[in-house]
Amino acid sequence: MRLLSLFFIRLIWFTIAVASLTVNNAAAANATKNSIDGIRVWPAPENTRIVFDLKSKPDYKYFSLSNPNRLVIDFNKTKNSVALKNLASHDPRIKLFRTSHSKENSSIRLVLELAKSYKLSVFPLAPAGQYGNRLVVDLYDKNKPVKVVSKPKISLGDIIIGIDAGHGGEDPGSIGVKGTYEKRVTLAIAKKLQRLINKEKGMKAVMIRSGDYYVDLNRRTSLARKKHVDFLVSIHADAFRTPGPSGASVWVVTKKRAESELSRWLLKREQKSELLGGGGGVIKNTSDSHLALALADMSKEHSLGVSFGVANEVISQLRKVTKMHKKTPQNGNFAVLKSSDIPSILVETGFISNHNEEKNLTWSKHQQLLASAIHRGIRNHFMAHPLTGSYFAAVGYKSHKVRSGESLSALAQRYNISMATLKSVNKLKSNALRIGQTLKIPRTG
Ligand SMILES: [Zn+2]
Repeated sequence: MRLLSLFFIRLIWFTIAVASLTVNNAAAANATKNSIDGIRVWPAPENTRIVFDLKSKPDYKYFSLSNPNRLVIDFNKTKNSVALKNLASHDPRIKLFRTSHSKENSSIRLVLELAKSYKLSVFPLAPAGQYGNRLVVDLYDKNKPVKVVSKPKISLGDIIIGIDAGHGGEDPGSIGVKGTYEKRVTLAIAKKLQRLINKEKGMKAVMIRSGDYYVDLNRRTSLARKKHVDFLVSIHADAFRTPGPSGASVWVVTKKRAESELSRWLLKREQKSELLGGGGGVIKNTSDSHLALALADMSKEHSLGVSFGVANEVISQLRKVTKMHKKTPQNGNFAVLKSSDIPSILVETGFISNHNEEKNLTWSKHQQLLASAIHRGIRNHFMAHPLTGSYFAAVGYKSHKVRSGESLSALAQRYNISMATLKSVNKLKSNALRIGQTLKIPRTG
C-alpha cells in the first residue's frame, strides 16, 4: 500500500515534469514557428504586387513612414530565409528590401524603401493550388489616370480590339505536364495578335495585360471600357485532369448571364449609365424606366449578336489551323465576358493538359497561326458588318458575279470568309446560287 502510493506520487511528479518539458519545447518552437520561404515581386502598369510565401498563416503588423517613404512589416515569430538583395531590381516602385531591428528577437522586421507614397492594400491568402500561405501587399499608384486611347473612331475610323491575355503574375492558369504556364502562352499569342491587328488598316489593338502581372477580372472589363474597346477577345488555354481532350473552342457569354448583369445594372442605372457606352447618355437622361430597359435591351441584343458573329468567323478560321474541341460557339459564364455592353469572345486555344498541344502551344509558329486565325475571324466579321463610321464601312464591298460551276463553299474558300458570313451579308436563305447572281464580298484585305 505504502509502496503503491509512493509509486503514484512518483508517477504524478513524472507526469508534471514531462508536461512542463512539453510546454517549454512548444514555447521554444513557437518563438519562430513561421518562416518566409519566398518573396515575389510583380510590377504592373498601375501597381506592384508583392507576395510573401509563408510556412504557416502570417501573424503580421505594418505601417508606413514618410521622408523617405517606407513600408514596414513586422512578421511575428517568423524567420526569413529569402535573400533580399536583388528583389526590387526590376520594380519601379520599390527601391530596396531590407531588414531592420525588431523589438522581439523572434520576429522579423522588413522594410521596403519606396520611390513614392502609394495606396496600400495588405491581406493574407489561404493555401490554394500550388501555393501555401501567403501575405499579399499591393502598392497602387495614387490618382494615376488610366491611359485612355483618345477615341480615334470619328477621325480615323479604327475599330478598337481589346486583347485580354488570360491569367498572369501570381496566377499561372493551367500548368502542363512539361511545366508550361498558361499565362505565358496566352501573353505570347496576345502579343502576336496585337501586331497583326495594328498592321491592319481600320483596326487598333489595346492590351488589357501587357506583362507578367495579375489583373483582377473586374478590372479587365473596366479597363476595356475605359479604353473604348469595341470588341474584347480573351485568350486562354484549356486543361483537363486527363491528357485525352484536345482542340480549340470559342465561348460567348450566356444570355442568362447577360440578362442578370443587365437587371443588376438597371437597378443602378443612374450611377452606372456609362456601362452602356453609346446608349448610356440617353439612358441616363431618361427617367422612363421602360425606355431605359428597351435601350439597354437593344444594346445587349446587339452585343450578343456581334459576339456570336465573331465567334463563328473565328471558329471558321481556327479550324483551318488547329483541331477544334467544339465546332460551334459555346455558352460560358466567364467573368471576363460578363459585361454585356462590350461584345466579347473567349478563345480556348487548345488543351495545355494534352501532351501534343502543350508542345504546340509553346511553339512560336503555332502561336502565330492561332493569332492570325483569330485576327482574320475578327476582321472578317467587322468587314462584313462594319460599325457605323468605321473605316471598314467606308471601304464597303466588292461584288462577284456567279459563274457556272461556282458554289457558295468554293467562293467562301476563295475569298477567305465563312459561308455563314457570305450568307448573312447577301441575305441568302440557302446555299443555292444562281448563275449571274451578284454577291457582295466583304473586302478582306
Ligand atoms: Zn485560362
